[in-house]
Amino acid sequence: MTENDPSLRYRGRFAPSPTGRLHFGSLVAALGSWLIARHHDGEWLVRVEDLDPPREVAGAARQQLATLASFGLVSDLPVVWQSARHDLYADALSRLLHDGHAFPCPCSRSDLVATGGIHRQCIAPGPGRSAAVRLRVPDGTRVVFEDALQGTFDQRVDLEVGDVVLRRADGFWAYQLAVVVDDADQGITHIVRGSDLLDSTPRQILLQRALGLTMPQYLHLPLILDADGNKLSKSMASLPVDDDAPLPALRAAWQALGQPAAVLEGLSNVASLLHAAHREFRPDRLPKVISLTFAAAHNNPVAGAV
Ligand code: GLU
Repeated sequence: MTENDPSLRYRGRFAPSPTGRLHFGSLVAALGSWLIARHHDGEWLVRVEDLDPPREVAGAARQQLATLASFGLVSDLPVVWQSARHDLYADALSRLLHDGHAFPCPCSRSDLVATGGIHRQCIAPGPGRSAAVRLRVPDGTRVVFEDALQGTFDQRVDLEVGDVVLRRADGFWAYQLAVVVDDADQGITHIVRGSDLLDSTPRQILLQRALGLTMPQYLHLPLILDADGNKLSKSMASLPVDDDAPLPALRAAWQALGQPAAVLEGLSNVASLLHAAHREFRPDRLPKVISLTFAAAHNNPVAGAV
């Protein structure tokens, strides 16, 4: 099977950024994307999104891969590292510039304070400053798409996001460009990821259209809220998962995905637990939102669908 085989039925992926150790929210995304891929007899790939050195932590990528391995979650093809793929992003950017979809922009963050960070036209004094490159989002641009779990999502990208940064003024590639280029290049057919990225998806769809790429299907996993209704990343649940104790975390992630605890009872190793999880997983049980309570003494999350 080649990378872009059109007969490919299902190829999913998990694409962590190496900004620290994997936390419970990332484990839910990893396990969720793996289970849904396996449920469709599909492939599951891992891609390291290491394009933002200022936010990265030395050694975190290797550590994340080791954590995934200790949870039995291993890429079906060699792991792709975005830091080795600059030429692909440069090609895409020059096509967008050439086709008039993208433009250099000298505006800094402070230039855009008055518009809440939303760029509609350049207001900075212009040449002389190092420039970012943005995707032009024409007035009236609205993207509506159907998420397999969250339902219809509708965004006025011009008003809510504005012109999208593709390459930052500091020269780094923006996530939005790299993710679209890589998902297409790797032949990803289904994107299953955390709901925090739901509102990035219309930007990615616009970029796919501008580059003439096929749109994958999207499923945004339940947003995980703590008992106070805070997003997971801001709560205790962002504590790292423990490589040496994969079973409790896998069971908790399984429950966070709305699946019944009982079917994994009595299983004492990762391989048998994943085997049973694959067999018993039902996508129609996935809830849209999850609330978590923590057994604080054990760093052991107990999830309940709401
Ligand atoms: N690298 C992104 C993150 O860790 C996820 C990208 C994606 O799944 O599209 O938040």
